[in-house]
Amino acid sequence: MKGRLAIWMLCAVLMLSACQNQSADSSTDSEHTTTVDSTDAETSEAIGVYTSDEQFELPGDLIRSNATVVDDSKTQSIITSQESYQIGTYIKISVYADMQAPDKLFDEIFYTIDFYEKMIAKNITTSEVDAINAAAGIEPVAVSDDLWMLIQQGLAYSALSDGKFDITIGPLVDLWGIGTDTAHIPDQTEIDAAVALINYHDIELDEANHSVYLKREGMKLDLGAIAKGYIADAIKQVILNRGYEHAIINLGGNVLTVGTKPNSDYWSVGVRDPNGGQSDIVGILKLRDNAIVSSGIYERFFIEDGVRYHHILNPYTGYPEQNHLASISIVSEKSVDGDGLSTSLFVMGLDEAYAYAETRDDIEVLFITDENKIYFTDGLADVFVPTNTLYEVVGAYKQ
Ligand code: FAD
Ligand code: MG
Repeated sequence: MKGRLAIWMLCAVLMLSACQNQSADSSTDSEHTTTVDSTDAETSEAIGVYTSDEQFELPGDLIRSNATVVDDSKTQSIITSQESYQIGTYIKISVYADMQAPDKLFDEIFYTIDFYEKMIAKNITTSEVDAINAAAGIEPVAVSDDLWMLIQQGLAYSALSDGKFDITIGPLVDLWGIGTDTAHIPDQTEIDAAVALINYHDIELDEANHSVYLKREGMKLDLGAIAKGYIADAIKQVILNRGYEHAIINLGGNVLTVGTKPNSDYWSVGVRDPNGGQSDIVGILKLRDNAIVSSGIYERFFIEDGVRYHHILNPYTGYPEQNHLASISIVSEKSVDGDGLSTSLFVMGLDEAYAYAETRDDIEVLFITDENKIYFTDGLADVFVPTNTLYEVVGAYKQ
């Protein structure tokens, strides 16, 4: 009941915020809301073309806003935004072009999200992941190419982190129920039983048949730590396929930029303040064609006897990971990599995660500790602009 109320409140906020500008992805001083007649645009044949027989069947109960259309003098473009509530999170897509982006583009985007949700969500009984989980210890299940690829990527991060990130964490996630109405501290015997079921080595893959087998009864895949990134990348592909070159995709704080902001070298994307509300930030990252994905203690949690129990779990201890990190943000090219790494590096902790980040040329990482210190890898020195005086910006981390 509480969950349902939260969704309706979110729905109301969503409809309201559709009428406002989003602080992180658009400047607010020169924008105003207007309706643009798309027939005026000379470039109409170049982008956003849909043949009449293309249908994107959306669920009847989809929570979705109407389009907000802004004629923005700073970027000299028309910004078309739509919002939805899917995969348990608030979604906002803003497309910058010479003309209003058609509703059909957003239909296709929301359809894409729904398509993957129905494939990946472990709580949807017809999903492929549910079929794999239901057949654990019984038989292999043949899966689609998409899910096969996502599982491969999940396994790569499981191996990279030596199981601190583990896509078979499902039994433990379900036991704690963090973010649901049944969230509670389980008994130690229950935790031990769930931990015993986690081991990504016990996933058997058959390359020839694209089938997946969880070797032991009770095992469960949970791709929640990586799937949002995969879906964001798929949305970017839809936008590019339709000929749009500038857009910003926000899946519940998992942000992916397309190109640059028009008339600018970069997008300004806010980094969430782990101690603040939804719209509080610690600073801005100047990004182009990049993903920024954060994992933190603020997203889903409950507090009991003064202790915060959040949703990033340590598969070895069976408890929410407590290591003095409040959040971690990854800047990467692909959102799926940012998502996999944000959870993996969070569980590694600052020492190991920073050392690992320094070995990678293709990612940058920003860490916020529970003592309000901000550390980041060298590549962010000119990219991160702090805005919050409650935080001490240290920069490089020395062990
Ligand atoms: P991340 O740090 O990226 O991931 C944390 C999540 O990963 C945890 O919530 C847990 O699921 C899992 N996890 C925790 N520890 C580990 C670990 N050590 N290794 C690997 N994984 C770990 N939420 C709803 O409330 N209702 C829904 O109906 C719903 N449907 C969803 C459907 C899909 C297809 C997806 C992808 C997500 C859905 N969610 C839903 C949200 C989901 O439950 C997670 O909250 C969300 O994906 C976490 O993303 P994040 O970026 O906040 O955190
Ligand atoms: Mg993640």
